[in-house]
Amino acid sequence: MANQYLSRRIAALRPSGIRKFFDIAATMKDVISLGIGEPEFTTPEPIVRAGIRSLENGETHYTSNWGILELRKALAEHIQKLYGVSYDPETEILITVGGSEALNLAALALLNPGDEMLIPTPCFVSYQAAVTTAGGVIVEIPSTMEKNFDVDPEEIRNAITPNTKAILMGFPNNPTGAVASRDNLLAIAKIAEEHDLIVISDEIYDRLVYGIKHVCFPSLPGMQKRTLVLGGFSKDYAMTGWRIGYACGPREIIKGLMQVHQSMVMCAPTMAQKGALEALISGEPYVQQMVTEYDRRRKMMVGGFNQIGLPTFEPKGAFYSFPHVGITGLDDDTFCNRLLQEEHVAIVPGNAFGAGGEGFARCCYATAYDQIEEALKRIERFVNRL
Ligand code: PMP
Repeated sequence: MANQYLSRRIAALRPSGIRKFFDIAATMKDVISLGIGEPEFTTPEPIVRAGIRSLENGETHYTSNWGILELRKALAEHIQKLYGVSYDPETEILITVGGSEALNLAALALLNPGDEMLIPTPCFVSYQAAVTTAGGVIVEIPSTMEKNFDVDPEEIRNAITPNTKAILMGFPNNPTGAVASRDNLLAIAKIAEEHDLIVISDEIYDRLVYGIKHVCFPSLPGMQKRTLVLGGFSKDYAMTGWRIGYACGPREIIKGLMQVHQSMVMCAPTMAQKGALEALISGEPYVQQMVTEYDRRRKMMVGGFNQIGLPTFEPKGAFYSFPHVGITGLDDDTFCNRLLQEEHVAIVPGNAFGAGGEGFARCCYATAYDQIEEALKRIERFVNRL
């Protein structure tokens, strides 16, 4: 069926570079995938049991549109304890169907047609889709390996026009693993204040940092009143399939998100909310264990790539490394396609993540250690053949 029936906004969406790749990989045998951004761990046992218990207790109904109050209270305490930022669980926190829903709600609730959203790139593929779907205009701010893929506040400032409404950024970053420096975030805070911009800060990887502390954007002076923090349980607690995320921010904005959420999904799944509550109660040791293990894999992968001759910056967060594959003379699409066809290793071309990603490839180290080891051997063989 022709595209003619689709709205212009939806027809304009680019197919996800990630999916395209994995459709091919799915038809092949013996593929090692460093492609999908999800923990290889299954959800920690107590969380699984809490979900089962919830169903067994007959909790098969809708919850409040906002999410279970007990979960919102536990989340408010958790954020307060970690970052010293206080949210009112009754009005300033919304439980969503993954961080993905929170992201789309934010775009829908904040953007008028033509409003510009500044997005440091490379970035999570859904940012572009969320903004386009909401009728907004994406303004990409590319970063570079030379600047550790950190956001450059001056470039943000230079991109501001009378139509700029908000900045959407995700640190720790998918796909680069970069963590923005506190100084740069402070400079962005100043710019947001001066130009009266909203900051949407996607902090879904907040706990996955290695040897440094995560800076929660609303904890910066004056920022809580103009920041929407997006978060979730998928990454930190290995709960991708449970579909629980959240948005925290000023009550008027959260109320706007809630109105869209209410008509779109009613509420996040009840048993999954109970699982998320358990994650906040007893998940911490598991988070620590997983972070320690990711760190081991991170070191192996980054060391491996540099040794093979693919320059790779040291990622300080999330679970991705971003080697420069362009050095081989192949562009990132060709490199990734040939690597998949010839050595059965799936990684994602950097250009899928927006400007600044060309010539790089995203490799996820949430994959099992021995799989990463084997993938590195195959990549080395491939690069040596070129
Ligand atoms: N933000 C970022 C930066 C992500 O990488 C992802 C998942 N890949 C999400 C948000 C959404 O995750 P979920 O919907 O599973 O919470």
